[in-house]
Amino acid sequence: MASEETFMRAPAPSPKRTIYTEAMEIFHYAADLIGLDKRVRLELEEPDYEHIFYVTAKLKDRLVPLLPEEAKSFSDLSVTQVRNTEGLERLANGNIILNGRALLGSDVAIRHGHLRLPDGLVYQLVPGESQRFKAYRVQHNQARGPYKGGLRYHREVSLDLFKALAAEMTWKTAIAEVPFGGGKGGIQMDPREYGREEIEAITLRFMYRLKSLIGPNIDIPAPDVGTNPEIMALLYRQFSDGERERHNLRGIVTGKDVRIGGSEGRGKATGQGVAFCIEDYYADRGESVKGKTFVLQGFGNVGSHAAIILGNMGARLLAVNDADGSIFNGDGIDVNALAAYVADPKNLKRSVIGFPGAQRIEKKDLWDVQADILVPAALGGEITADIAERLKVKLIAEGANGPTTPEADRVLQKRGIELIPDIIANAGGVTVSYYEWIQNKRMERWSEAEVDQRLERAMKRNYRIIRDISRNQPRKTEMHDSRPYCIGKPVDSRCAAMILALKRIEAHYLLEGFSQ
Ligand code: NAD
Repeated sequence: MASEETFMRAPAPSPKRTIYTEAMEIFHYAADLIGLDKRVRLELEEPDYEHIFYVTAKLKDRLVPLLPEEAKSFSDLSVTQVRNTEGLERLANGNIILNGRALLGSDVAIRHGHLRLPDGLVYQLVPGESQRFKAYRVQHNQARGPYKGGLRYHREVSLDLFKALAAEMTWKTAIAEVPFGGGKGGIQMDPREYGREEIEAITLRFMYRLKSLIGPNIDIPAPDVGTNPEIMALLYRQFSDGERERHNLRGIVTGKDVRIGGSEGRGKATGQGVAFCIEDYYADRGESVKGKTFVLQGFGNVGSHAAIILGNMGARLLAVNDADGSIFNGDGIDVNALAAYVADPKNLKRSVIGFPGAQRIEKKDLWDVQADILVPAALGGEITADIAERLKVKLIAEGANGPTTPEADRVLQKRGIELIPDIIANAGGVTVSYYEWIQNKRMERWSEAEVDQRLERAMKRNYRIIRDISRNQPRKTEMHDSRPYCIGKPVDSRCAAMILALKRIEAHYLLEGFSQ
């Protein structure tokens, strides 16, 4: 046996508090509680690999609107009649990308590089230049299988954030009992500021650099904030371009369009998983989701699907916000109408703001709305201790990754607000990603009903094990067996979820040994 001294930490942990150290607090707490094997702890407390690289792409010419003050000196500039308006791509920030031959063949009136469009605004013509973007892929752990985790395109990303999110994936894949490890990555950029062809160029270049680091049996990305099935298709194309057996490489990414090897039910899977957990939470108490009210933060992939499914189960959405603001309707928001409003191509920001079926409220007032359930489905670190003190809900089901700070967790516990932690609540996405990967490997296609049925069983079985660990209620039922995981005393639900993850990962190291 190795002595205590063998297990020196290298490098010594930084005393600085970061997103990563904060996210790992629960890991260390649970590891202490279960006496996690020291070598396993060393393997898990830092990622296996942290890749940072740069992606350079040529941007297109764009029209940037002038402020009214600046436009005054062009008051006599005549209007440019654009013949091929499809060549003009309007972005959420007001800029217009010039695609193809947008201005060729038009009657263009340009003065000092400025022109006026039929919308009355004066635009400066900015020639496209090359731009460099910072890109990341963190591979946290692969004891249980290939690295697995999403790609995020967002302005506020960092190595520290991706380390935290990659570690979360290691815990989540263990909890969901899918044979993967954890990874995460992405690009520092706001995708709403770039045109379709620019995003394509950036994405292809990203995969060109990623290709030597990943593979269908090595590391498998998926969509996350700011990415979607179209981006997954581009990544697949770039990875498999020129390869002899392209069709065998479909499993390089999950979250693809169903027409090119994506799984039925993947688009809604994370929101569906959140809803299954909430349903099981109430079933355990002899209650139903029907008639419950909920508040939602974020109306993207996870938030919108969770809202639609909870709505179909009979719950009422009272308030929702996104990056642009909050809306409220005490009688309940028509979720399907809201989803259609957000998806409308005319809604450039894809925002809930302006939806006619609700009134606008201050963004921060979302937290004061009284409801049964809160589903955070936006970014991490949103529920701080102050907000936790204000909340008027009884249950929080974490659709987002890491939405609650450790201080807020303590406040929620003190206030008796119940929690379905992220690593189980939003595990539906990676679970169906696994189904997609399996279907790609076997060249099969499962029906939506089959996927939903498997997902429901997987989510509820593992959530029940976590509940039993939390209550210290070891038992074996037809659906689940919590006996190997309970620790002889009750713990809070976030800790219970982490215990399940750590015990499952530890088993791999203890039975298979450590690679040398
Ligand atoms: P998305 O890009 O589709 O949507 C994000 C939503 O959050 C948008 O409505 C956006 O406007 C909103 N938002 C952004 N900043 C905000 C702010 N400051 N305040 C309020 N709202 C804000 O992303 P998504 O895929 O739905 O992911 C949402 C969360 O769920 C993330 O934390 C992600 O890591 C997590 N998650 C996603 C999946 C998945 O399958 N997509 C799986 C597991 C976890």
